[in-house]
Amino acid sequence: MSDFQQIFGTAPKAEASAPGRVNLLGEHTDYSDGFVLPTAIPQHTTVGLGLSADALHHFYSEQLDEQVTVLESEETDRTPSGFASYIFGCVRILEREGYTIPHLNLYVTSSVPIGSGLSSSAALEVATLRGLRALLNLPLDDVQIAQMAQQAEIHYAGVQCGIMDQMASSLADTEHMLFLDTRTLESQVLPFPRGAEVVVIDSGAPRTLAASGYNERRADCEEAARLLGVKALRDITGVEAVGGLPEPLRRRARHVVSENNRVLEAVRGVPAERFGELMNASHASLRDDYEVSVPALDALVGILQETPGVFGARLTGAGFGGACVALVAQGKAGEMAKDVLERYSRAGYAGKLLVPAVS
Ligand code: ADP
Ligand code: MG
Repeated sequence: MSDFQQIFGTAPKAEASAPGRVNLLGEHTDYSDGFVLPTAIPQHTTVGLGLSADALHHFYSEQLDEQVTVLESEETDRTPSGFASYIFGCVRILEREGYTIPHLNLYVTSSVPIGSGLSSSAALEVATLRGLRALLNLPLDDVQIAQMAQQAEIHYAGVQCGIMDQMASSLADTEHMLFLDTRTLESQVLPFPRGAEVVVIDSGAPRTLAASGYNERRADCEEAARLLGVKALRDITGVEAVGGLPEPLRRRARHVVSENNRVLEAVRGVPAERFGELMNASHASLRDDYEVSVPALDALVGILQETPGVFGARLTGAGFGGACVALVAQGKAGEMAKDVLERYSRAGYAGKLLVPAVS
């Protein structure tokens, strides 16, 4: 990492990376203790770490071309804002666990698009924690790293996130899907359906309502679980059980229950065609029952679904904008994406291919 040297004047003492992720199936289920099925994407975040020469932390992001200096002591625990809050959060969470963390020079560089729903935030946290594990020889396993990363995002960046993003970044690779039970944190690495690969396209629609919509849906799920007398909607296994709920809770709960069942079917090793049908059904459920889609996402998913070589497609991430994921016949991704983006642009939108990564 020669750029570390340019910014900080010395070579880094440790370096670590972590990938972004895309969720194939199991959307809006993690805060109901449900099942998710993400995979890592080739884009990743790398951090270089060294010891600071003064009693301050210095964090630099190449993407933002921004350096933040953080004064940290027992008396003044002022959390920085912006990207530094994710890094500082990781430092603080480790300290709360009893580890002594020296003042750091930390350099961030990344190929994960920021704010597109591919979890650049989790990649930053997991890379930071891996970097600290390497620098200080910390006895942390990958699940602990994911949990600490989530705690950093919740308590220091102020984002009420589930555990999926951090578990995917910490445990998944690009060759497999990670089947994760978000209640027990048990996970299993599984092969993709045979003959299939993953395509991710950004819809170009900004995720303006994502934060408020996310909080509303979360509250709906908690209320539905309370009315049904269960700890979380994960405890409901059949959609019939939600029939007596008032609207819109009935449809919200029906999405979560049916989505969990789709993940459980997908991990039984179904062929790509069936996996694709489950993705299509997931999109319909997110659109009609969960109401987190927008016209741009529906248009992009519609074009994907009618394209030869595409097994299935759906919005991915929280919705209200952001990206779509598709499962396509292996080797077809490049030409298929070109065709889809042309048709999407004729429909009046501007999309962008995110995976496979174009370098
Ligand atoms: P997503 O995780 O979907 O990309 P988020 O809004 O959760 O979107 O996280 C994006 C935030 O994470 C950015 O606003 C920034 O604060 C931080 N971040 C992620 N990657 C970087 C990076 N390479 N440099 C600086 N900040 C980053
Ligand atoms: Mg994020």
